[in-house]
Amino acid sequence: MNLPISFEFFPPKTPEGAEKLRGHRQQLYARSPAFCSVTYGAGGSTQEGTFATVREILAEGVDAASHFSCIGATRERVREQLAQLKAMGVKRLVALRGDLPSGYGLGGEFHYASDLVAFIRAECPSDFHIEVAAYPEVHPQARSPEADLKAYVTKVRAGADSAITQYFYSADAYFRFVEDARSLGADVPVVPGVMPIISSTQLMRFSDACGAEIPRWIRLRLQAFGDDTASIKAFGLDVVTSLCEQLIRGGAPGLHFYTMNQSAASLDILSRLNTP
Ligand code: FAD
Repeated sequence: MNLPISFEFFPPKTPEGAEKLRGHRQQLYARSPAFCSVTYGAGGSTQEGTFATVREILAEGVDAASHFSCIGATRERVREQLAQLKAMGVKRLVALRGDLPSGYGLGGEFHYASDLVAFIRAECPSDFHIEVAAYPEVHPQARSPEADLKAYVTKVRAGADSAITQYFYSADAYFRFVEDARSLGADVPVVPGVMPIISSTQLMRFSDACGAEIPRWIRLRLQAFGDDTASIKAFGLDVVTSLCEQLIRGGAPGLHFYTMNQSAASLDILSRLNTP
């Protein structure tokens, strides 16, 4: 399979977590990822951990993308962080608005990811490849699907080079999104974000929070497995491999795996995809 793949991690909270993640990364590197990305807590809460993990990945000889969210930030602060990322050798950013934890106001000088993309392009025109987030099933706070699509197109026009989607389990939602965006002139590559299914409760919790739809038949099957994790993993592997096959057949330009700092589930899917 020659399709570009990438892996996403979150910054580990403990030295043990960091050590485990190093091991998982080595396993995943066997698949020659185009890059690995590291998430960034909105409001800068994980900045140190994000940058430290990005540094490690670069030192391991792999291209690293730092996620970067702007909500609550000032222009001066973002300018400083961009300089820091540049000095670290980072060439790829995932530019996001982010979400502030409830209780925080929406202060700061950036309102939307498109403001951040425009700012990065103005400050350092060609230093970074800029990825943005795309939502085939519509961002949960969007006024309407049309408004969300327009917001995506605005991010692309502001200077994004490519996009990574929120995860989804309906290939049709992805293909429709790509087609609609193209019809509005936004034709940068849109790489599907793939969430392996390894735990039913974790998946339900995340999906409720980020607005990703778990089709009824998948939800019911997962619920029926109860605590039987082996069956959940086997079923999840079938479902997600089949989704990836549909995406590849339909022309997806790559696959971006939400690894949850684990390697086995993503590697299992990739092994299946290599099977004729
Ligand atoms: P935006 O593109 O700014 O959109 C946010 C909302 O505002 C949408 O509802 C949109 O329709 C609306 N909107 C945009 N522009 C306008 C406008 N001009 N007028 C009116 N409405 C508008 N979160 C993190 O905290 N850290 C991470 O590392 C992280 N990584 C992610 C990676 C990917 C690939 C994805 C898909 C999501 C990630 N998230 C991350 C989650 C993301 O921060 C949230 O989904 C957040 O709510 C929106 O960020 P955004 O960049 O998509 O925002």
